[in-house]
Amino acid sequence: MLKCCICGRRIGVLGEERYKITEEYVACYQCTPFFRGMKEAKNSEEILKNENELRARIKNYSVSGEVQDAIEKELQRIKDSKQQMYNKEIFQGLKDEEIRKRRKEFLINTGYNFEGYKIIKYIDLVHGEIVLGTGFTSELSANLSATVSDILGNSVKAFEGKISQAKHFAQEQMIINAMIANANAVIGVDFDITTFSSNIVGVSANGTAVMIEKIE
Ligand SMILES: [Zn+2]
Repeated sequence: MLKCCICGRRIGVLGEERYKITEEYVACYQCTPFFRGMKEAKNSEEILKNENELRARIKNYSVSGEVQDAIEKELQRIKDSKQQMYNKEIFQGLKDEEIRKRRKEFLINTGYNFEGYKIIKYIDLVHGEIVLGTGFTSELSANLSATVSDILGNSVKAFEGKISQAKHFAQEQMIINAMIANANAVIGVDFDITTFSSNIVGVSANGTAVMIEKIE
């Protein structure tokens, strides 16, 4: 018999709405709307409202530490993915000049610091990749703004050889992901090249997105 991990209600077998927190823990139809509310929220106030209501509800029941932990993890996961979505919207709303300016000032390094700058925030691991078949510059993500496609596409053409073009593309993609996450630099950059078959090669660039500031 399946029980709600929050309120302990029995969950009906017949199409009752439910929310899978983990494989093991499921919320019933009365506890589900808070999770859904967070996922479908239009802004951060709505997220917070649903989160607070859920927390208030949880307080009414004796929920085990293990369930608490699973819920915390899930809430964090929802908030992270919403934040990423908002960041992307904000980035896509930027003026082209602003994107170009940010790209121009963006710094990357295979090491872990920049002379004359200090790292004020570690943001996240970032990643950019491309799979090389034939004519990869025509495979650019269609949903990106003209400027972003331009940054990714045109600057690559200056590089000789497919692999170095691909490395540059992966790097630019990584930088754009970092800019979306509000970083102005990436440290610890490295590249992975994977061969899938004789003529398909994957190139990825990885690093840690950070926020840096000039030392006065
Ligand atoms: Zn419930």
